[in-house]
Amino acid sequence: MAVAETKKRQLKGIKRCGDFGGEGRDGKPCGRRVKDGLCRSHSEAGAAETGVKKAAFLEEYSKGTPSLKAAAETCGAAAVTVWRWRQEDEEFNAALTAVQANLDKIRLNMVEDTLVERCLKPDTPAALVIFYLVNRSDGRWRNVQQVQQQNVNFDFDLSNLTEEELERVQNGEHPLRVLAQTRGPHRLAEGT
Ligand SMILES: [Zn+2]
Repeated sequence: MAVAETKKRQLKGIKRCGDFGGEGRDGKPCGRRVKDGLCRSHSEAGAAETGVKKAAFLEEYSKGTPSLKAAAETCGAAAVTVWRWRQEDEEFNAALTAVQANLDKIRLNMVEDTLVERCLKPDTPAALVIFYLVNRSDGRWRNVQQVQQQNVNFDFDLSNLTEEELERVQNGEHPLRVLAQTRGPHRLAEGT
């Protein structure tokens, strides 16, 4: 039956990779339609081309490209192709697993870089800058004076306030509230 089907197919001019000796991982003839010769997975030229794509994908993805799909598309491959590569190619699978293990670190750096860029712009919400300074200044912006208000403890560097702002804080107003009023409430609202 299978032989008859193959004959019929060949008479119609439909050729498959398996007709030229292409075999899938299961040892069955490869069923991909081809013009003449092995498919891209099973020919040497095709394998070389796929190898280049795989390397390009790994490089793109390891830069911290937001998603696997986005990295694949940058290299002209569909996400489903990448998943097929993972199944077919142990070495590729191991490389991709290693890249993914490293991605959290890379992405954290990217988020930090973006945060720094935003903090350096003049119209940045005060709360964003305060968040960065309190968390990333190795203590220089921490514990200068602890302000307690509304049952919330808040570490805040009062030396950076203007005299007017300082006076209001010392009179019991919350520093963030003071900053919101003196430096623009919309900015603070954006950043919280
Ligand atoms: Zn094939």
